[in-house]
Amino acid sequence: MAEFLEFRNITKSFGSLRAVDGVSVSVRRGEIFSLLGPSGCGKTTLLRMLAGFEVPDEGRILLDGVDITDLPPHRRQVNTIFQNYALFPHLSVRENIAFGLRIAKVPRRETDQRVEQMLELVQMGDQARKRPGELSGGQKQRVAIARALILRPQVLLLDEPLAALDLKLRQRMLLELDLIHDEVGITFLYVTHDQGEAMSLSDRVAVMNRGKIEQIGTPAEVYEAPTSSFVAAFIGDTNFLEGRVAALADGDYCRVRMPEFAAPLLCFNDKRLSVGNPVYLSIRPEKFSIAREQPPPDRLRNTLRGTVEDVVYLGNVTKYWVRVGEIRLSVSRQHNRFLLDEQPISWEDEVWISWHADDGFMLERYSEQDEDLLATPPDGAFEAEESAATGEDQP
Ligand code: ATP
Repeated sequence: MAEFLEFRNITKSFGSLRAVDGVSVSVRRGEIFSLLGPSGCGKTTLLRMLAGFEVPDEGRILLDGVDITDLPPHRRQVNTIFQNYALFPHLSVRENIAFGLRIAKVPRRETDQRVEQMLELVQMGDQARKRPGELSGGQKQRVAIARALILRPQVLLLDEPLAALDLKLRQRMLLELDLIHDEVGITFLYVTHDQGEAMSLSDRVAVMNRGKIEQIGTPAEVYEAPTSSFVAAFIGDTNFLEGRVAALADGDYCRVRMPEFAAPLLCFNDKRLSVGNPVYLSIRPEKFSIAREQPPPDRLRNTLRGTVEDVVYLGNVTKYWVRVGEIRLSVSRQHNRFLLDEQPISWEDEVWISWHADDGFMLERYSEQDEDLLATPPDGAFEAEESAATGEDQP
């Protein structure tokens, strides 16, 4: 698919701070592309440069082959939806949606037609006479979407558009945004710090960190095959283990000695590391199996014995914290089958955890600066989940 929107080597500083640092990224026509990263990583600044509200210090922005870097905002066919909706409080829903066409002096009849189409698209026909003050958050956001889309932008920019909504409404609006996108087929550039939003909505995601892009890929690629420890930790939950290559094994694998464990672990050696090289291994909680009984030996599986320290039942999954020596591992288990008479694994149980050698990812260790940016460390994460949980120690 042809590249439609291109940021070429964009840099933007505010004083001594490099908010965006040499970013190059291409977005395809018609896709939903998300810029995802922690607060302050530069995503809004990148979006604002596309909208024309900021000028890059270096680099060019191309839209459908046209260099728009120096165009003023009103000459660019991009429209932004903001978190705070930015509706006119004294105008009705209908007037808010029509506003851009009125300014552009589009004939009355065409304006009315296009407003009707938009009201239908966002399912607000029966609310057309109301003013924003009489609408719910989700309804206001739909009006904002209609007001932007009526101008038929080449790209719709969405800057944390759902941040002000509660969880249930956010989930519903995500589905609606997806349907609206299917209907209009316009390229969406979506900015969020919420990985769940980015993962569920996007065709592709760019994960940003401190002004740079760390990885671009489909949601499954960035989750299943992170290329940096920052991405692995920012998207979803993961466990990091540190060690050194002790021996090469079975062609594609190596044995990694970790000071905490008696036996070396078998790891997929995609980085082609040599004996003695340091290893920083990321293993997602759901890649572990957990059981009371020792699993049968398997050449490609690693097995550790540990003690359950915490259990959080979350309905669809149960999360366990398992201590193995000095290390606490986060393990999650999906309830594919619910067996009432099965005795659940609970606090202080001795368990076996095992995982396939291919399910660990060797990454560069992230910096101390990154560590500050990354969300809740494992111990804190447990507490956060615990408070959201409805029960304990259930299967
Ligand atoms: P958030 O999710 O919190 O909005 P973000 O990833 O969108 O974060 P930006 O808003 O792009 O981040 O900001 C990147 C950095 O640039 C931040 O450190 C911010 O404080 C700084 N910054 C942004 N705009 C300005 C400005 N106009 N003047 C000075 N500093 C700015």
